[in-house]
Amino acid sequence: MTDAATPLPGWTHVYSGKVRDLYRSSDGADDGRLLVVASDRVSAFDHVLEPAIPGKGALLTSLSLWWFEQLAGADGGRAIANHLLPGQTPPAATDGRGMVVRSLDMLPVECVVRGYLTGSGWVEYQADGTVCGIPLPTGLGNGDRLPEPIFTPAYKAPLGEHDENISFERTVELVGPERAAELRDASLEIYRRAAALAEAKGLILADTKFEFGLDADGVLTLADEVLTSDSSRYWDAETWRTAETPAARMASFDKQIVRDWLAAHWDKQGTPPVVPDEIVAQTAAKYRELLERLTS
Ligand code: ATP
Ligand code: MG
Repeated sequence: MTDAATPLPGWTHVYSGKVRDLYRSSDGADDGRLLVVASDRVSAFDHVLEPAIPGKGALLTSLSLWWFEQLAGADGGRAIANHLLPGQTPPAATDGRGMVVRSLDMLPVECVVRGYLTGSGWVEYQADGTVCGIPLPTGLGNGDRLPEPIFTPAYKAPLGEHDENISFERTVELVGPERAAELRDASLEIYRRAAALAEAKGLILADTKFEFGLDADGVLTLADEVLTSDSSRYWDAETWRTAETPAARMASFDKQIVRDWLAAHWDKQGTPPVVPDEIVAQTAAKYRELLERLTS
């Protein structure tokens, strides 16, 4: 994926994940500035798919920037520290896809919060009555709201390996008891605030994933992308209330469109098939609609 990263004057390419390219400042000494560029690449089931989704990188970056602003207090809540460096403009060549951030010491935990039962949570619940080991009441259906949002962390595996769901106890082993509690409490608080804001726009935030890092003073700082259609499941609230089937009520504004298509057309062996034009167009349109509805 490294070859997909465009050279940018003043910046040295350091890493490419499945979706984003990272650069560090090469203006003299490394000054701790990082440039995160969201590409149009789309990944599902740990594979980058063909073709890219036109406009996706810019939509994800706009959405992250908008959410960072809300969580910094624009929504009326307390200011959550985030990794953005204010006043720093990304290179013009990144075309709305870049964010200049502080390089943080990232914690190896993906902080997942689920407010609804779906996806891998639904699969586990049907087998064991639990989600990531957390016992839930009986009788819940696919797409149902949980009694309370739950924190279900995952271990952020090194490049090329699968992330793995972990217990809260394992999180304590990884980052210590205070940090683990801080991660859980911050994640649940952010989820609740975001879900309330989404609800006011007729949207359900079914689940989402945050990543945090520590700044030079050890302050817990919200990083990565936040509450985007790649890192979250969003549903239309009216459809969720009125649809007749679980599949229909979870009509989504996020990457689930691609996941569902791929799951129906691929046995997860070898190279995934090329995503057809109509799925690409539908995904691009839904990502755009989500941004418009949230920020209107
Ligand atoms: P995957 O392809 O599974 O998503 P990935 O998460 O490593 O792998 P990307 O999401 O494409 O790949 O890349 C973003 C990377 O940048 C992540 O590894 C994330 O942890 C890291 N990151 C985000 N914000 C910061 C920050 N402020 N400081 C340091 N690293 C960061
Ligand atoms: Mg990632």
